[in-house]
Amino acid sequence: VLVEGCIACDELRDAVQAPGGVIYEDAHWQVDHGLEPIALAGWLIIKPKRHCEHIAELTSEETASFGLPLRNTARALTEVLHPAKMHVHSMGESVKHIHFYVIPRMADVPADGLEVLQQMFEGRWACSEAEAAKVAARVRPILRRLMSEAVG
Ligand SMILES: [Zn+2]
Repeated sequence: VLVEGCIACDELRDAVQAPGGVIYEDAHWQVDHGLEPIALAGWLIIKPKRHCEHIAELTSEETASFGLPLRNTARALTEVLHPAKMHVHSMGESVKHIHFYVIPRMADVPADGLEVLQQMFEGRWACSEAEAAKVAARVRPILRRLMSEAVG
């Protein structure tokens, strides 16, 4: 069930398109690049395909099917960008629809945890929509291959 006025639901119903389009989707989860203003090339977002605002309220099926997309999103991003570390965050305070940021922390970005997250939000490593779309296009076939191997 999708909700009016929710930007994540707008993406799920294709009313809003992330840079490069949908990277991966299955029955329960979708992976897209972060929207404008783009904090970082490769800032990906995993979200459930129904409007759900609390992690405690995910179904058993959603919960059980989350691990592989998360790991494989990190693997595909690693293959494309070779980050020093992969950060994962979920807060859901402004966009209530559950979403997990999967953020490649590159070697030239300080390992400063929440401080670096703040700087990312402020646009210190911002990129154009075209750059983000390029990363999405490179991640897509790798992530889809990894997911098909995991299922098969
Ligand atoms: Zn929603």
